Amino acid sequence: MNYKNISRRLVLKQLASMSAIGAMGSLRSLSLYAEERNNPEIGLIPEIKGKVIHRQDEDYEFWRQHMIWHLSKPDRYPDIIVRAKSEQDVINAIKYAAKNKLKVTTRSGGHNAPGAALRDGGVIIDVSLLNDIEIDIKNRIASIGGGVKSASLVTAARDEGLSFPAPHCPTVGLSGFTMGGGIGWNYAHWGGMSCFSIEAADVVTAEGKLLRTSDDENPDLIWAIRGVGPGFFGVVTRLYLNLYPVPKTILVNNYIHPLDDLEAVTTTLDEVNKVKDDRAEVIAILLQNPEAPADAPPEQSKICFISIFAFAGSEAEAQAMLAPFAESDLANKSLVKIENTEYTFEGLYGKFFNPGVPAGMQARYAVDNVITNKPGETLLALADHFKHATSPHSHVLAAYAVNMKPRANSCFSSIGSDFVGCYSIWDNAEEDEQHFKWLDETILIMDPFASGHYINEVEARRHPERIEKSFSKENWQRLKTVRDKYDPMGVFHKHLGYS
Ligand SMILES: Cc1cc2nc3c(=O)[nH]c(=O)nc-3n(C[C@H](O)[C@H](O)[C@H](O)COP(=O)(O)OP(=O)(O)OC[C@H]3O[C@@H](n4cnc5c(N)ncnc54)[C@H](O)[C@@H]3O)c2cc1C
Repeated sequence: MNYKNISRRLVLKQLASMSAIGAMGSLRSLSLYAEERNNPEIGLIPEIKGKVIHRQDEDYEFWRQHMIWHLSKPDRYPDIIVRAKSEQDVINAIKYAAKNKLKVTTRSGGHNAPGAALRDGGVIIDVSLLNDIEIDIKNRIASIGGGVKSASLVTAARDEGLSFPAPHCPTVGLSGFTMGGGIGWNYAHWGGMSCFSIEAADVVTAEGKLLRTSDDENPDLIWAIRGVGPGFFGVVTRLYLNLYPVPKTILVNNYIHPLDDLEAVTTTLDEVNKVKDDRAEVIAILLQNPEAPADAPPEQSKICFISIFAFAGSEAEAQAMLAPFAESDLANKSLVKIENTEYTFEGLYGKFFNPGVPAGMQARYAVDNVITNKPGETLLALADHFKHATSPHSHVLAAYAVNMKPRANSCFSSIGSDFVGCYSIWDNAEEDEQHFKWLDETILIMDPFASGHYINEVEARRHPERIEKSFSKENWQRLKTVRDKYDPMGVFHKHLGYS
């Protein structure tokens, strides 16, 4: 079957109505993992108001698994899980751990792919119940508990006409997301990486002291928080985030091309990107064609899906932002296109990313990436390997013009204009090795184009050295110095693979 000749592209049309990001999720079935279970037992750590679960407890394995959002749960077993209900719980848990020589990690939204929060031994402090949000409209600041998830902030801020460059998936924890950098909605317009929008934070240190940190108070601590990724030496109980006026108009254009046309697509994208409005957010995803029969040859079963988001002050402005794309071969030569679809900011989640079905949620999941100045070349280099992906759910995602320029007050220091990530997603545990191997091979293919890596999405289980490569040499060294100052006794685990 030559799928270029299909006249009624019902499935692809449905897909194009969702955007590239939503399309990934739509390929998986719906079912929610339990968010909470009613078991009020309190464990042995004194003075904890929240729930404490020990290894010998009946429900230990349930809660251990609950710490990680996807299904490839690491075989790592903390001694104690603390579900903190207050800042004081966090303080008490850290003091208990320090006294008993137990190492500590923190869990917020549980979305980190290698499951960095889950370690062998020690205490994992789950802050997901610290989920209150206060909006200071006058100063455009959101004060959020360390467990707030992206959609909750977007909805609360929307009520005040404000918003935040939040993750593209509604259930990602804002702590883990911003502390690792954060590529959020409207990144191009709102300062590049979301960590640059952290104004201040409240942190419980290894000594169990609650400190405020900002550019004026304990500045080395906020410097670390802005980009350290999954290896911070304290627990952030509260973040103070800069908010921005919610865009008046959001229009989206979606284009689908066969993967075999990728070279023409990336050439056009490179040309249009030179003249486009900087604020247009361009995301390209290589994924399985849902219309392809199971026995279709690989070259006929993959597509390239491009979404352009215009966040603007008016419809006319949004259309002007999208015009260079609509007038290019991206539109003219597409298999399917849907243009000028209007959304509200929070509506991006409902429509583009079904909260119940983000890609990988009901599957086994591994991811790695490069920061690059050559996104087109990276995608082209990956295309053939992607055609032979070991799972139909695996995909490759490029976010163009993310603007990863480092700042002196942030340890985030991956330099490059664009992001390319490879996502390996599969179902059966017996197949783990082949899907991890596929991802390992993508690393070999994309690394020659790398100027850095995005720490939030490196496969630290198998390649811990990629953590260090996510920083400049200078910032990696300084991070060690700041860690030694605030956690001299090594109460907190370091990054996965470094402890
Ligand atoms: C479906 C999905 C969609 C995603 N979309 C995006 C996206 O659009 N853009 C993007 O940039 N990334 C995205 N990511 C990646 C995401 O940013 C990272 O996985 C991030 O680590 C998740 O944070 P979390 O709090 O949910 O995870 P967790 O696993 O809970 O935390 C990760 C680590 O962060 C640290 N941490 C978390 N909270 C705290 C705290 N309060 N104090 C101290 N340390 C803390 C800990 O070291 C912890 O191990 C996505 C991931 C998934 C699975």
